Amino acid sequence: MDYCNLCPRNCRVNRELKNKGVCGETDDIRVARASLHMWEEPPITGKNGSGTVFFSGCPLHCCFCQNGNISDGTNGQVVTTDELCSIFLHLQEKGAENINLVTPTHFVPKIRAALIKAKQEGLTIPVVYNTSAYESVNTVKYLNGLVDVYLPDLKYKSPKLSKKYSNAPDYFETATKAIAEMYRQVGQNLIVRHLVLPGCTEDSKEVIKYLWDTYGDGITFSIMSQYTPMPCCPYPELQRKLTAEEYNEVVDYAAELGIIKAFIQEGEAADESFIPDFENWDLETFLRS
Ligand code: SF4
Repeated sequence: MDYCNLCPRNCRVNRELKNKGVCGETDDIRVARASLHMWEEPPITGKNGSGTVFFSGCPLHCCFCQNGNISDGTNGQVVTTDELCSIFLHLQEKGAENINLVTPTHFVPKIRAALIKAKQEGLTIPVVYNTSAYESVNTVKYLNGLVDVYLPDLKYKSPKLSKKYSNAPDYFETATKAIAEMYRQVGQNLIVRHLVLPGCTEDSKEVIKYLWDTYGDGITFSIMSQYTPMPCCPYPELQRKLTAEEYNEVVDYAAELGIIKAFIQEGEAADESFIPDFENWDLETFLRS
């Protein structure tokens, strides 16, 4: 890609020349971790775990990111398209319920090539595309026929909040167009996540209302309480966990609307066990495991 416009940041940098845009990555695919992961929604985790592949870098860069050491590019190993294909096939051999591409947006062309090759070589488990939803519609269209389940976030309705916390005032407008394309491709195989942020319950309700008014029970909701304060986040109001009252207020609102196809989190979900170890992963050891 000479002038990258893969995502709405539209940086137009030449990543083949090893320049970097907002995502912080050249066109070399970097993987921070591939493993069986037990902390996704029940149908994604299944019995054996989801075959997650966490990609380094991120086009969105939320200030409260819980995987900051991969989204900022600190962790990650360069892999070729063929090696990525081997990762997919090895996860399948290890019993993964699916291939779960986490923050894949900025590597879509090479991921697409690796998926096509892996399918030719025997990959049969479903492919899950796990994204912030800050995507350009053309990039999502490029995945048509290769993704079985879309797992996007819908993080904010308010442009004020999305500007403050993710430097993306156009987030809602952009993400909802991308989600519409995902729905066009996979219909009910769409699970939309919403992480309730401390102090933001009114915006959470607006997000949920929009999804309900637009898709009704044609999609599945995942309302998440696992917000974990990160020391690097510069906003004092985000330096606390979500209260049970805040979370229940949002879940009760969803129930009042009539939403029943929803995953909710119970008990103490804001735990660092949701944050995998990105320090100690390497490709060679993984492929031997
Ligand atoms: S993928 Fe990266 S370089 Fe390309 S437009 Fe998005 S943020 Fe910019």
